[in-house]
Amino acid sequence: MRRKIVAGNWKMNNTLEEGIELAGQINDLVENTEINDVDVVIGTPFIHLTEVNKVVGEKIGVAAQNCADEKSGAYTGEISASMIKSTGSKYVILGHSERRTYYGETNEILVKKVNLTLENGLAPIFCIGEVLEERQAEKHFEVVKSQIAEGLFHLSAEEFGKVVLAYEPVWAIGTGVTASSDQAQEMHAFIRKTLVEQYGEEVANNTSILYGGSCKPSNAKELFENADVDGGLIGGASLKAEDFMGIITAF
Ligand code: PEP
Repeated sequence: MRRKIVAGNWKMNNTLEEGIELAGQINDLVENTEINDVDVVIGTPFIHLTEVNKVVGEKIGVAAQNCADEKSGAYTGEISASMIKSTGSKYVILGHSERRTYYGETNEILVKKVNLTLENGLAPIFCIGEVLEERQAEKHFEVVKSQIAEGLFHLSAEEFGKVVLAYEPVWAIGTGVTASSDQAQEMHAFIRKTLVEQYGEEVANNTSILYGGSCKPSNAKELFENADVDGGLIGGASLKAEDFMGIITAF
């Protein structure tokens, strides 16, 4: 059965020193709190990965927030999936809306990143979600379906089994506006139905689908109570250990 996951996305925040401190605080809380069978992940900037992996124990997985779309070579400034793997990290967040919007990440580029992530034994946390205009035009289901199909449906069922999905309506990211519990469940159920059509019931039921977008301790419980919401991808609220823990313990 699918795993419940709460993953933090620190984005471009925290110096190395601050990141080590925050990871230590989260680790202490996770070690000393009864957690209801939830996988905890922290997504840090590249330069933190090695040190944060040393600070956290077995109960926390570490994620990069991106990886290169090439294996190795003359790509100045890029970080490959195999380099990420060598830090002890387990996940790579891919296709975040900020990368799609500010860095021109297309589904075509994402296919290469997904493949390299999987080839290196890392699990992609693959982000999908519509912008406000698309929701207002009632195109949100179509948009999300095509992001999933174009970014992931080249994978075999076995490969797809390693993918975590994160539905993040772009209008809810960092805005303080959260999708309502009903809106989240409606989209998550649609995503699962889309997976059933492509890979069958078993793969679809085993896929964790996270919600992201202004999720915080005060609204996490209501979101996570939905049958198809298997956890969260958390931006702002993952930068304070107590808030992040408040979301983890919302299950
Ligand atoms: C995110 O960037 O993945 C995110 C969900 O951000 P926030 O929680 O701050 O809306």
